[in-house]
Amino acid sequence: MADIIKLLPDHVANQIAAGEVVQRPASVVKELLENAIDAGATTIKLIVKDGGKTLIQVVDNGVGMSETDARLCFERHATSKISAAEDLFNLRTKGFRGEALASIAAIAHVDMQSRTANDDTGTHIKIEGSKVVYQELVATPNGTSLAVKNLFFNIPARRNFLKSNQVELKHITDEFQRVALVHPNVAFQFYNNGSELFNLPEENTRQRIVHVFGSKMNERLVPVDENTDVVNITGFICKPEFAKKSRGAQFFFANGRYIKSPYLHHAVSAAFEGLVKQGTHPGYFLFLDVDPATIDINIHPTKTEVKFDDEHTLYAILRSAVKHSLGQFNVVPALDFERDRNLDTPYAYKEKQAVLPKVTVDTAFNPFDGLGQHKGVAHKTYQKESVLGWESLYEEALESKGDDSFSSVQLESGLESPELFEHTAMSLAPTQRTFQLQHKYVVTTLKSGLLLVDQHRAHKRVLYERFMEAGALREGVSQQLLFPLILGFTLDEMGLLKGLDKELSTLGFVLSYKEEMLTVTGIPNIMTESAIEGVLKELVLKFDEAAESVNLTNAHLLAKTLCASLAIKNGQVLEPESQMALVNDLFGCKEPKLDPSNKIIYTTIAVNDIAKNFI
Ligand code: ADP
Ligand code: MG
Repeated sequence: MADIIKLLPDHVANQIAAGEVVQRPASVVKELLENAIDAGATTIKLIVKDGGKTLIQVVDNGVGMSETDARLCFERHATSKISAAEDLFNLRTKGFRGEALASIAAIAHVDMQSRTANDDTGTHIKIEGSKVVYQELVATPNGTSLAVKNLFFNIPARRNFLKSNQVELKHITDEFQRVALVHPNVAFQFYNNGSELFNLPEENTRQRIVHVFGSKMNERLVPVDENTDVVNITGFICKPEFAKKSRGAQFFFANGRYIKSPYLHHAVSAAFEGLVKQGTHPGYFLFLDVDPATIDINIHPTKTEVKFDDEHTLYAILRSAVKHSLGQFNVVPALDFERDRNLDTPYAYKEKQAVLPKVTVDTAFNPFDGLGQHKGVAHKTYQKESVLGWESLYEEALESKGDDSFSSVQLESGLESPELFEHTAMSLAPTQRTFQLQHKYVVTTLKSGLLLVDQHRAHKRVLYERFMEAGALREGVSQQLLFPLILGFTLDEMGLLKGLDKELSTLGFVLSYKEEMLTVTGIPNIMTESAIEGVLKELVLKFDEAAESVNLTNAHLLAKTLCASLAIKNGQVLEPESQMALVNDLFGCKEPKLDPSNKIIYTTIAVNDIAKNFI
């Protein structure tokens, strides 16, 4: 048989490697920012367009590259950072594989200009799909400007797999923050589609955190500082009372690199135990410094997992360092030994309202009345109640016999198929009764049994279909606010809102953006002014989660998140009319069976199944 093994051509090998290094625009951002840091830049500018799909550009004032290096840096395994395998154990740089630029150049249009301080002229080089298409001398400032255009232009499957611009921008912002937080001595600017998202001057770590996460962060930070032989830990934790439902601000850095470590995260959580409410997460920004020989970052090109030699010791030190800070800065409530415990309110009663004792007097009670005529108050009311109960049971039985319930639908033939409702205008007959079960389900009778509707999910569905008409966000009527509402958001939240501006204004929002301040001058007329702050805050919180789950358009995601925050909540008491209206609205929907997150909205219990319980 003929020989069949071939060596892959370089550009193919590079494309394959690119699959590992570059998952999405954010991966490119990470590599370029890290290269700029490694080049010793003190000012770095990041410019992106359309969530990085059209353009990602990083401009730095670092050491730059000679003409030869500018050509060579796009070759595989071309790196200035290590020359022997031993160097791997003494890494102080971010990059070392010499893989990133070769990979990026294989799957995008790259345009780079670079000059070192010693050269008078710089190099301008363009590469498309690993091929050099242009190289000239150029007058350019000292440093490097590298633009990556049309990412995945030659791998349509990867390009189509990208999420909306908004979601990709969010990933880019995450990467940007991770680099910016650990390099406060470098000034950063970040522009998206021509508008400035971040402008961070050279500053200290605390100022950097506050700059990135908003001025409110300042009062929340508690410093951590622990020096041991194994590790030096510096940074900040957030006071427990500011723990959030989202896991937003939790950062570990090891030797200047952002890392993920569920194990170390656990150590921090353990230190906070008992101080934060269930389901909330404390924020932290912790910088670990260990001997480079005791850490392995060589696991995967883009993964942020690392391996420490002595994780157990690290765990213990970290936990006690965090505990120490919590105690030292009086974050933990101090024990008061002077206090008389007997005067404390028992825990179970703390939340309870004081109730005035009621006295019921039977004015007609006469102990000398004949026996058997009056048997005491309690007994009397009990009898009365039970009679009432029977009446209503009887009425309901009659009603279901009368069989007006869901008149147009043959319920026996199957509530299971939602199509049934699609073409049938369903509505409850006016005589139909509904009631609420545990303030969570609206219950009503059907010919064949019982219908139970989850009120929150049902309302989400109704609102969702109201927002979305024919797949696009329905144009909403705006109501002008008498006094503009001013709300504070962090810079990246502002970026997210800005990116949704088109959709938000379609709904009726009139918003203007300035740094950490959102000014609301108009709101959709279906919302009340008092709800706006909550709705927008929840929107930024939930948008990411929703965006991750499925590939939806911004309009769909916005509708989905808004519905979730506007919908009737579980636990909310509904008047009978509202219950009726909700059920009627639900079955007027195109898809009454599932809520916008594909969760079941209603279920039925057949009389036959009920009957089985009475055998
Ligand atoms: P690595 O960072 O792992 O060395 P890269 O492919 O990211 O590999 O970069 C290859 C080489 O190109 C680097 O080692 C460095 O010498 C050079 N280089 C890349 N970006 C820059 C930059 N912004 N400024 C100066 N040199 C750079
Ligand atoms: Mg690199």
